[in-house]
Amino acid sequence: MRTEALIIGAGPAGLSAAIELGQRGIETLVVDEYPVPGGRLLGQMYQSQSGWWIGRRVAEDLLERLGRFPNVHLMLETSVSGLAHAGGGWTATFSQRAGTVDAQAVLIATGATEVPIPLPNWTLPGVMTVGAAQTMANVHGVRPGERGIIIGFGALAFAVADELTRAGVDLAGIVLPPLQGPSQWLGTVQDQWRRLRDVVHLGPRWARAATPLVASDFWLERVMAGAPQKGIPALGTVLRPNVAAIAMAGEEAVSGVWLQRVDRRGTLVGEPWHEAVDFACLSGGLRPVPDLAAATGAAMKSSRSGLHDVPIFGPVGETTAPGIFAAGNVLGIEGAPVAMAQGQLASIGVLRHLSGNPTEWAAEQAAFSRALEVARERAPLVFDRAWSQIHEEIRQAWTNRPKEG
Ligand SMILES: Cc1cc2nc3c(=O)[nH]c(=O)nc-3n(C[C@H](O)[C@H](O)[C@H](O)COP(=O)(O)OP(=O)(O)OC[C@H]3O[C@@H](n4cnc5c(N)ncnc54)[C@H](O)[C@@H]3O)c2cc1C
Repeated sequence: MRTEALIIGAGPAGLSAAIELGQRGIETLVVDEYPVPGGRLLGQMYQSQSGWWIGRRVAEDLLERLGRFPNVHLMLETSVSGLAHAGGGWTATFSQRAGTVDAQAVLIATGATEVPIPLPNWTLPGVMTVGAAQTMANVHGVRPGERGIIIGFGALAFAVADELTRAGVDLAGIVLPPLQGPSQWLGTVQDQWRRLRDVVHLGPRWARAATPLVASDFWLERVMAGAPQKGIPALGTVLRPNVAAIAMAGEEAVSGVWLQRVDRRGTLVGEPWHEAVDFACLSGGLRPVPDLAAATGAAMKSSRSGLHDVPIFGPVGETTAPGIFAAGNVLGIEGAPVAMAQGQLASIGVLRHLSGNPTEWAAEQAAFSRALEVARERAPLVFDRAWSQIHEEIRQAWTNRPKEG
């Protein structure tokens, strides 16, 4: 099989790029390993000041627009397992089906994945990642259980707590992860508490009024360390900022969680106690899925933890591997509107590569760059503040990269 452009990933980044390529007549194949296109849009749902954001509707709109272009084809339930440079283009191999596809340009839009939190008994049925609970509730309309607990502070944990309680699920609250042992990379207890800054604007009026308090390390530490053991009501549940989950309990399925108090240094204090739950959601954060980009030989920006590894990329999603482009969460964790603008920008890179003209589509590039800035300014959730610094370093690395010839 041959195509001009291959897009790996039918999330908001991949679909937005496909629409731009489709309307410019480019023969495009979009491949996704999931049976339904839309990527992580399918599970997203939250209320902003301008009303409800329902990711599934955004995905339906993108697909309706994509359906207008007979030159764009969707191949689902197909995982791309490899990319090899061949004959000036790239050959993709699949893991579920025979055959390969040859493409002149490839856009990698493989998104992000969750980082689990290993704690004793975490393999018991009923223990899941917070994104899995989001998919069960928002995509499949299934309650993950009757009474659950969320372990780990972070934008996704707070968003999903809100979504689950709106769906009528009883939560024992949001507690800290174990901050010693194999979970040390989750940071200090202060790092966990600081994540409240990313969502305080979404809370009720009294929470928004507390923004200056949350913004100050001094006050944040005092309020969080001094919170009552039963927690602070928020997001339809309770935040329990000085309680950590230390182990799951149960025989054949999870039946409870062991909790223990922590002090302001994150040290466990006092005796552990047991609380009954029939499901638990682990929220260790999100990380990009850059493996295919790395396999092409594209220069990568590596991080000590591996959680921030991304390809070095230019203004229109170009990587240092010729004909390989990237967009969306594979470049860093941000929301869907940002991924959509990145997909549109990367389509310009693909078009220029196919035509051999590096300066065409300048007006579109300017419009999409502006859309990206606006999407960032309006983003309701900040997943990890490290990304803006990493993106700045990548901009410098791109400018200073060794040039051919
Ligand atoms: C569990 C989880 C929950 C999230 N929840 C929210 C939320 O509530 N709100 C929010 O704003 N953001 C959320 N995000 C962030 C979300 O990733 C972005 O909002 C946005 O969806 C990113 O778009 P994308 O197109 O880059 O990637 P995605 O939407 O993740 O799409 C990537 C697509 O690539 C496919 N894919 C990956 N690898 C391959 C391969 N090798 N072969 C074929 N197909 C492949 C996947 O199946 C997927 O459909 C969440 C992310 C995750 C991981």
